[in-house]
Amino acid sequence: MPLYLKKAPTKSFTDTAQSDVAATVGTIIDDIREHGDDAVRRYASKFDRWEGPLRLDDADVERIMATLEPQVIDDIHFVQDQVRRFAQAQRDSLVDIEVETLPGVHLGQKHVPVQAAGAYIPGGKYPLTASAHMTIITAKVAGVPRVVACTPPIRGEIPAATVAAMKLAGADEIYILGGVQAVTAMAVGTETIAPVNMIAGPGNAYVAEAKRQLFGEVGIDLFAGPTEILIVADDDADPFLTAVDLLSQAEHGPESPAVLITTSRALGERVMELVEEILPGMSTRDYAEPAWRDWGQVIVVDDIDEAYALADSFAFEHVQIFTNEPRAALEKMHDYGALFLGENTCVSYGDKVIGTNHVLPTLGAARYTGGLWVGKYLRTITYQEITDPASSAMLGEVCGRAARVELFEGHARSGDARAWRHGGATFPW
Ligand code: NAD
Repeated sequence: MPLYLKKAPTKSFTDTAQSDVAATVGTIIDDIREHGDDAVRRYASKFDRWEGPLRLDDADVERIMATLEPQVIDDIHFVQDQVRRFAQAQRDSLVDIEVETLPGVHLGQKHVPVQAAGAYIPGGKYPLTASAHMTIITAKVAGVPRVVACTPPIRGEIPAATVAAMKLAGADEIYILGGVQAVTAMAVGTETIAPVNMIAGPGNAYVAEAKRQLFGEVGIDLFAGPTEILIVADDDADPFLTAVDLLSQAEHGPESPAVLITTSRALGERVMELVEEILPGMSTRDYAEPAWRDWGQVIVVDDIDEAYALADSFAFEHVQIFTNEPRAALEKMHDYGALFLGENTCVSYGDKVIGTNHVLPTLGAARYTGGLWVGKYLRTITYQEITDPASSAMLGEVCGRAARVELFEGHARSGDARAWRHGGATFPW
């Protein structure tokens, strides 16, 4: 039986807040459908105090980039190289196929990029520059010709490093626009923004809900809401790294859960002490502290297999493995967005620098999807051709019979007509 040294309330974030969020989002979407740019500007002013231009042109972008230290630009280049390299490996792993399943029957499959994608780069609490690399580079490596990128102003100001990252990643259009108004404008189109075919990127509960409500009318990558971290640790784990890493994700926002599952009660207790020591010195304490108080958990289990099974049941976005055999988790665990094996790496590397994508499933979505990757921007589409008339005739006979079993006379006749045309059967009607 697991022992809870610290337990979160049984209510979940979705239970407590989601219905209010859904109503607010629905109202904003309807308003933008009806009033286009006017409504978009109204919400940009209301939620983000933004009265400036929605779209940045090349001269704006150049001027903004000139305000940045060269080291910031160098680091953006470095990280974008890592993201591009991994995304390219993903693209290379997707091969088109064509097989001959019967004489002259050719069946094929291709991966074709969507023609226009929207990249949402969050920026309410922090300017999430790295989300620009993750969404835009991945789309460009997939071959998307038009990538529209939106990010909100932060405290009324343009986030300069994010704009630089959008430009260097290859965005074709850059907008200073956030939240539901950005997602809706990209999905349904306004006078300023032509609609896109799919929208990718993380965001807060409003952004995630807007994507959910607009899905179908527009494609989406996945639900990538408030971030989550879970650490599986045995008694060899470093308590200081464990505490630091739990808080590194709690600081995302007051609703970001951080969970430790450990086989060592002593480690769990020490980590809880260290968290209390570290929190007061964090400049982001206002987010990290309520997140830890309300959603933090420390759970002691009997053995490492129980730890993996319990960790799987959370289906969290990020899972760090601090055990003496971290790679065992690759076999033992199944439900997570991304795994971080061993103490030399951490979620912050995944979030900011290492090159795997940081747009990952939250709120249990890891049970049915992985994170953002090149394949999310591609459609896997099929084609077929028959070059041998005898095979066409044979399939026509089977099609006629199979379709009549389903009472589809029209379908059956398409089969009959080919069987008859190629001399495989007598014309029955
Ligand atoms: P954000 O850009 O997602 O949201 C900011 C927008 O929220 C604003 O532009 C505003 O329009 C809107 N908003 C704020 N209050 C509102 C209200 N009351 N009604 C309607 N709209 C409102 O930025 P954020 O808030 O900082 O959130 C970013 C989120 O992204 C965090 O929760 C973080 O954990 C998450 N994240 C997730 C992943 C992932 O892959 N799952 C990755 C990175 C970040």
